[in-house]
Amino acid sequence: MNNQENLFNECFSKSGGRFNYEETHYNGDFVSAKHIMNSMIGFVRNKYSNLPEIHLDFIDNPSLNAAAALYKGSYYIGINAGTFFLIADLFMKVMSCKSVFPEIGDILLEIDEEKKISASLTFSGLFYNSDIGTAFSEPRDKLRLEHCYYYQSITLEYLVLHELGHIIRGHVGYIDSIRKGAQWSELEYESESNNNLPPSISQTFEMDADSFATNWAFLKLNRIINSKDLKKYRQPDYFGQDWLFASEHWSFAIYLFFRLFNFNQLDFEESKKKSHPPSSIRMIMILNNITELFRKTYKVELRDEVAKKCFDASLKGEKAFLEVTFQKSKINTLTDAFNEPGREYISSILKNWDDAKPLLKPHAFGELPPY
Ligand SMILES: [Zn+2]
Repeated sequence: MNNQENLFNECFSKSGGRFNYEETHYNGDFVSAKHIMNSMIGFVRNKYSNLPEIHLDFIDNPSLNAAAALYKGSYYIGINAGTFFLIADLFMKVMSCKSVFPEIGDILLEIDEEKKISASLTFSGLFYNSDIGTAFSEPRDKLRLEHCYYYQSITLEYLVLHELGHIIRGHVGYIDSIRKGAQWSELEYESESNNNLPPSISQTFEMDADSFATNWAFLKLNRIINSKDLKKYRQPDYFGQDWLFASEHWSFAIYLFFRLFNFNQLDFEESKKKSHPPSSIRMIMILNNITELFRKTYKVELRDEVAKKCFDASLKGEKAFLEVTFQKSKINTLTDAFNEPGREYISSILKNWDDAKPLLKPHAFGELPPY
């Protein structure tokens, strides 16, 4: 390990330390995932010239989680190896199912055998476990396989942008200033690295990181849609040229990613005690945000059409999730989040920003937005 890798290893030692993927069969996959995420950091960095170095790597931990930290003067983003495997496994198995986007590629090439994701859910979260589920399978149709890589990229980019949001908006600097060595962890069961903030503040920071991620993801999508040289984005041409297509498939991938974090039945009193807003509430805020960004940038009168595309993509995402997990549908938690109590919950998170924003000012890089 080089010096930076050693520091990363120290920084995340409590959650497993650095994952030595170089010694696994998946070296190439991790190198390419890292390239996707570091490119995204580079894309954002252009706007923040005062942003210090950020070191991104994988943590040797099979659970679904990611974290951002300030350690010995440098910023770190740690993605659990389990998160990477869960995302890859989920999209590969979903796109091997004939019922998912049957219009894409030749579904007759896909086999009928059932597919189940290799994940186990325990009291401390979701873990990647290759002994569980069906054997790793990837779509036989080339185009469906390309869609998997596309969804993986969208998800990894979103995840790194979310963690980057915690750094750039000053969340990580702020928690480090009140409790030295504290890390921003995406799941609160890891109490060692929990941010220990009042839930109302922590949840509004999470909303802020999601908003940051969605805005930058949109800028990237928009750049691809308008690019004259799609080859450099390493994806089939048709992915990039149609913004309705882009909004639908982006929403599908992000829905499936959030669905991994479990869509529990909404209990707003219970939710108020947590560090993160309920996943379905976050998903609704993200869908509202991406729809609005597309509306502003493209044709205003098509707002309903984009909103419908994005919401329908979530419904497709739920169906696809059920195909590989055999769970019961939880789409009602998403529709519930649309209703009055859900809307009230969302507006309280947005309102808390007035209390959160002044805390972040000394630690943020660049302007903080209004909400
Ligand atoms: Zn977060």
